[in-house]
Amino acid sequence: MQIFLARTQGFCAGVARAIDIVEQTLKRYGSPLYVYHEIVHNTAVVKDLKARGVIFTNNLSDVPAGARLIFSAHGVSPAITRQAQEKKLLTIDATCPLVTKVHNEAVRFSNEGLDVVLLGHKGHEEVEGTAGYVAAKNLHIVQNAADIESLVIPAHRKVAFITQTTLSLDETRELVLKLRARFPRLTGPAKDDICYATQNRQDSVKELAGLCDIIIICGSPNSSNSNRLREQGQRLKVPSLIVDSADELLLTDLENKQNIGISSGASVPRHLVDGIIFKIQQAFPGTTVQTFDNPEKDIIFPRPEI
Ligand code: SF4
Repeated sequence: MQIFLARTQGFCAGVARAIDIVEQTLKRYGSPLYVYHEIVHNTAVVKDLKARGVIFTNNLSDVPAGARLIFSAHGVSPAITRQAQEKKLLTIDATCPLVTKVHNEAVRFSNEGLDVVLLGHKGHEEVEGTAGYVAAKNLHIVQNAADIESLVIPAHRKVAFITQTTLSLDETRELVLKLRARFPRLTGPAKDDICYATQNRQDSVKELAGLCDIIIICGSPNSSNSNRLREQGQRLKVPSLIVDSADELLLTDLENKQNIGISSGASVPRHLVDGIIFKIQQAFPGTTVQTFDNPEKDIIFPRPEI
């Protein structure tokens, strides 16, 4: 049996920065330290930080006045920032700079009075945060083609689009085409807002799909980019599954397979992927691992002074 490890996978620069911010803040100020939402969507990362004194919350009313609070990599809406200011919380912003870029686009389009179509998954923290930068009356959150068909925007209105950073590239391209067909004067970012890490990880799964009989994605169930990787493999007709860690991997799924592709979402620590490799090698002795050159190894997003 042979394992192929995806060319790009695991921590992106935005996730590494966000976790570093939490770790440095813990080191400097100790606990209790509050984080609004999961700092990144990974069960193991969140569990480890909880054990070290971090308190994750989805509700600012749980945070005592004057406490130290970090905003997660997914970003928050201006309303949450205001609420934190009113409570005199000591805030540190771990929003990924690429999410902040989308916030800035949202503000620009909204200030220009455009109707703004936000392509993304309703209820996802990043989408909730970005939506807050658009005037409510001009905001339309769209998940699929049916949502585009049912958009109610008068023909004379100018329309702009922005996107969640972790969507499927192929699906988003199709949705933007549909939007443009309905609103020929559609404006938006030069391409879309899908980030380099999402794009690279999806491209790497396409590469694996040409080499493998099965693809295993390591990622948590609530991780958007990890789920898109599994869908990418499935779309290319390669059986693809998602597991949070080696414990969830069923070895029976690997029976009669020769070439196994492994990738992981942008919020997955490397030790979880190593655990999967170890489990497979224990069960199927002689299994070799092939790696590829990673084009992302020098990408770093500097963190603020803590
Ligand atoms: S997946 Fe992209 S947008 Fe999200 S934290 Fe990573 S680099 Fe930033």
